[in-house]
Amino acid sequence: MAMNTQGRPSRPVSNIEQGGYADTFSGSRGLDQAEPLIFERGRTDITGVDFPKAKGTKARLGGLERTDEIGLPGLTEPEAMRHYVRLSRKNYAIDLGLYPLGSCTMKHNPRLNEKMARLAGFGDIHPLQPQSTVQGAFELMGELAHWLMTLTNTPCVAMSPKAGAHGELCGMMAIRAALDARGQSGRRRVLVPESAHGTNPATAVQCGFYCDEIPAGPDGRVDMDAFKAKLGDDVAAIMLTNPNTCGLFERDIVEIARLIHEAGGYFYCDGANFNAIVGRVRPGDLGIDAMHINLHKTFSTPHGGGGPGAGPTVFSEALAPFAPVPYVVKDGEGWRMVEQEDEAEGEPFGRMVAFHGQMGMFTRALSYMMSHGADGLKQAAEDAVLNANYILARLKHIMTPAFDGTCMHEALFDDRFLKDTGVTTLDFAKAMIDEGYHPMTMYFPLVVHGAMLIEPTETESKSGLDRFCDTLESLAKAAKDGDTVRFTSAPVHAPTKRLDETRAARNPVLVWTPPAETLEAAE
Ligand SMILES: *Cc1c(COP(=O)(O)O)cnc(C)c1O
Repeated sequence: MAMNTQGRPSRPVSNIEQGGYADTFSGSRGLDQAEPLIFERGRTDITGVDFPKAKGTKARLGGLERTDEIGLPGLTEPEAMRHYVRLSRKNYAIDLGLYPLGSCTMKHNPRLNEKMARLAGFGDIHPLQPQSTVQGAFELMGELAHWLMTLTNTPCVAMSPKAGAHGELCGMMAIRAALDARGQSGRRRVLVPESAHGTNPATAVQCGFYCDEIPAGPDGRVDMDAFKAKLGDDVAAIMLTNPNTCGLFERDIVEIARLIHEAGGYFYCDGANFNAIVGRVRPGDLGIDAMHINLHKTFSTPHGGGGPGAGPTVFSEALAPFAPVPYVVKDGEGWRMVEQEDEAEGEPFGRMVAFHGQMGMFTRALSYMMSHGADGLKQAAEDAVLNANYILARLKHIMTPAFDGTCMHEALFDDRFLKDTGVTTLDFAKAMIDEGYHPMTMYFPLVVHGAMLIEPTETESKSGLDRFCDTLESLAKAAKDGDTVRFTSAPVHAPTKRLDETRAARNPVLVWTPPAETLEAAE
């Protein structure tokens, strides 16, 4: 049994190992309580609070008052509160531990960011307030835009997109508008490397393009001969991620930019991995025409679980005229928001959101940038790359790196080290949950068999990385030593065991139906 330095067990001990019962009467596991749905916990025929019937008051709803039952579970305040706190304890979060999801860049969000985002002048304003009353907020947006354009060396940025994928939509709509404006609406083919994030082809198709896949070479980068063979006068653009989703820098990026421009197409760069190069490389210098920046990845603002994001999109000189409204400008009278297309310079392709973007995310991102400074941002990128390479170096003797050489901000392994062990990438990931680690990204990128993509970010200390590597090392060893059941039965210590993920994805049950109705329906 593992002990801490005080002589106490440092890990939960499964009671199966002790020959005890795995199941408890309550379904709870120690103080990790089982929690049913709120509709199962409360009854819909009672209320949590009883009010006496109001006497002598007239309804003021003009006949619109509710006549049927509200159908919500009646719970007391503590019951309702406990329900949500228990659920929150089942969430894994970057504030709980290492979150090594490759491509997602789960980094610590400094609390300074939160303090700034809650300042009343940023947090308590309304998008319809008169512009003269929100000059500080406009200045913050202008300042952030300035940082983004400086870090990327581009002349224009659209601040309103609300996620990376939304930024891709913004960039590809500008490319479409630019092609239409020069009378080349026939250019509808978009080149997408096969390692691309799924949002890239989805965006291209959403904008009326179709995708043509470029294969990866044996080194995990764009196969240049295949790329050249695909160029033609129907090509609208290439969508390329750099560093790519294998965690590798696309060394030929300048040549790729030159060739796509020569062929009359545009270069959309997926900037989700900007955290690996920020402060060291300016994508504008590499020849990109449009790139989204995931503020919620590179600049630390919290994300995951569908939380807010922000995907400002920078544009080259060629695409800047087509950037969407709204945007802020500074003139003699201070800051103002250009909201209408006919007030804008150039030919904006339109507008993407109702208001101006995610103010809270803007504030957090600028807070992160200003507290790091230009040199600190560069160091964050360097530390992220160093940490990933440390993991690669520590584990390559027992796991199998997908490609030779060093990596950028994420270390990619394949499943060759699990060959003939009876353990799959999925089993390995589930065993990590028992060890208290959120699994890495699995089975992505698709170009690598049984992929395991680990992104530690600059957040982690050396001792934290060592604990993580020790754990993976011991798991890899256990798999090779034939301790297969440990993997195939994992997770043992999690509140729920293996879920039928295929069924959950294909047949999602999103609405709760009362048991009586479910029974009736079954009859
Ligand atoms: C995260 C990510 C995206 C999408 O960004 P969202 O903010 O999740 O919409 C696109 N491409 C890559 C490579 C990513 O890692």
